[in-house]
Amino acid sequence: MQTKQFQAETKRLLEIVINSIYTNKDIFLRELISNASDAIDKVYYKALTDNSIVFNQDDYYIKVNADKEKRQLIVTDTGIGMTAEELEEQIGTIAKSGSLSFKSENELKDGYDIIGQFGVGFYSAFMVSDEVTIISKAFGSDQAHRWQSQGADGYTIEPCEKEETGTQIILTIKESTEDDDYDQYLEEYKLRSLIKKYSDFIRYPIKMDITRSQKKEGTKDEYEEVVEEQTINSMVPIWKKNKNELKYEDYQEFYFEKHFGFDKPLRHMHITTEGTVSYKAVLFVPEKAPYDFYTKEYEKGLELYSNGVLIMDKCPDLLPDYFSFVKGVVDSEDLSLNISREVLQQDRQLKVIAKSIKSKIQKELLDTLEHEREAYETFYKAFGRQLKYGLYSDFGTHRDDLQDLILFHSSKENKLVSLAEYAEGMPEDQKAIYYATGDSIDRIEKMPQTEMVKEKGYEILYFTDDVDEFAIKMLREYKEKEFKSVSSSDLDLDTEASEESEETEKENKDLFTQMKEVLAGQIKEVRASKRLKHHPVCLVNEGDISIEMEKVLNTMPQEEEVKADKVLEVNTHHEVFTSLQQAFQNDQEKFKLYTEILYQQARLIEGLSVDDPVDLTNKMCQLMK
Ligand code: ADP
Repeated sequence: MQTKQFQAETKRLLEIVINSIYTNKDIFLRELISNASDAIDKVYYKALTDNSIVFNQDDYYIKVNADKEKRQLIVTDTGIGMTAEELEEQIGTIAKSGSLSFKSENELKDGYDIIGQFGVGFYSAFMVSDEVTIISKAFGSDQAHRWQSQGADGYTIEPCEKEETGTQIILTIKESTEDDDYDQYLEEYKLRSLIKKYSDFIRYPIKMDITRSQKKEGTKDEYEEVVEEQTINSMVPIWKKNKNELKYEDYQEFYFEKHFGFDKPLRHMHITTEGTVSYKAVLFVPEKAPYDFYTKEYEKGLELYSNGVLIMDKCPDLLPDYFSFVKGVVDSEDLSLNISREVLQQDRQLKVIAKSIKSKIQKELLDTLEHEREAYETFYKAFGRQLKYGLYSDFGTHRDDLQDLILFHSSKENKLVSLAEYAEGMPEDQKAIYYATGDSIDRIEKMPQTEMVKEKGYEILYFTDDVDEFAIKMLREYKEKEFKSVSSSDLDLDTEASEESEETEKENKDLFTQMKEVLAGQIKEVRASKRLKHHPVCLVNEGDISIEMEKVLNTMPQEEEVKADKVLEVNTHHEVFTSLQQAFQNDQEKFKLYTEILYQQARLIEGLSVDDPVDLTNKMCQLMK
């Protein structure tokens, strides 16, 4: 029998596959099963268009068998089969001709790109086999053929006997080496788990002969091994089922089965979309954040299927970072089966799917916020921070997607409110959306800077997360109302105190100048306050960097210390101010002492550290003398 040569490019490809260090050798079975399923599809479509052909569902299946002694793994299908010419043309030639020519030697070496990008399909069998035999009988033909190859050296084709139409692929599995365990591909449990993992949703049954032990009939404790043919795959994936036939428990089961999390899913979405691209998806919003969620180790992504065949475990390109908590599967017939990460990223269809998924998630979250407040707050507790990071990242480009999903604690309601809710409750004269920043709600409650804003009857949003103020800076405004910190120097409240304080400011010009001199280098300005009621002093900031931001930024590694421009505000209605005035007139030493102590107090209230605590206590003792 004559050995035929592979086409030059095919030979090259085979050499790459055989010698490749491609780590995921497991995928060969997926490739063979997927080919088998396609071959059955072809008969099915024939039957759809030709009345003389009857497609009897029971006759179509894929069978996976292992023979340990012969080291053979056999994949049989009852599909369309191949004629001698087809074996020659389709198996002997690489389909995507020219695909190798533009790859450099280096890129070709590890085979990763080739296998990933072009999909070697059938050839992947050579990653695990010394010899591959195909016995096939084409639909409508009387003669079967055997194709056989040991790799790059070539192949033979000869007529042979085969009763049923279809294809049988026999792999002679390689001997295990120190680095590679090939024996596992002859083990029932491994094959079973590979089918479950990669081909569970193939729509034809994938059968295996499963050995189990059972009690021998008529005996008490004697066991015998029985072989039973079982269908391994579940065939209809949950996302292809009709929503109306599924209960919450079904989705929950699926969530567990897929190991999406140890918690319960808080929400699930079952999407069926037809349009520019068609896809189906089952997505989950978990109840709790995974332990590594807010670390670099966390990998986002959805399982990606191409018509029931898994192409990627975690496809990151389907989710924006701010929705990285979403888990689930996406299946689209419009995606090619063999597509690598790099190519996938550029794929137009994938981009359309990702965009659609993004807006579905957004809609689902908005809907939860509106109709299931409690569930939304649970979600927000776990993942709100991620949404806020999303607002902040990419220079605020995601504002429209996210601004209505964030919540903050409200001074008025004493619970979380959305920006829309805040805006709705605003009195007409209110010019800005006010917020206050601090370590905890309790601490913010006591902040002197909030006094006058509250008295005006305005609601204040409490920012307790490091990211809050940064996120809001990106947002700038909501419904044309600017965000304003109660600690910003230009808090324009239009109160009676405003006009009055300007008067006082003028009257006490020298005193304030003197205070500024005492505190030179530490503050930018000293002013009469328009916002204080009961407290003698407070610190506010001028410019873009707030005092809270200064704190956050200085916990991060960087070369120069960040400093907010601080302004010391003095409550001119406070008794302490009278003492200050007296000291200014009569006792410069005392005036200096008072000024320094008041400034340190303001720092403490703001949650800033005192540079020299010993010095401060000494000064306080001096006061007590
Ligand atoms: P792909 O499946 O991406 O086309 P493969 O190398 O896996 O690439 O297969 C090449 C071709 O060989 C297939 O397109 C199909 O026509 C044929 N083929 C492979 N396996 C089978 C099979 N089990 N039954 C019928 N035809 C098959």
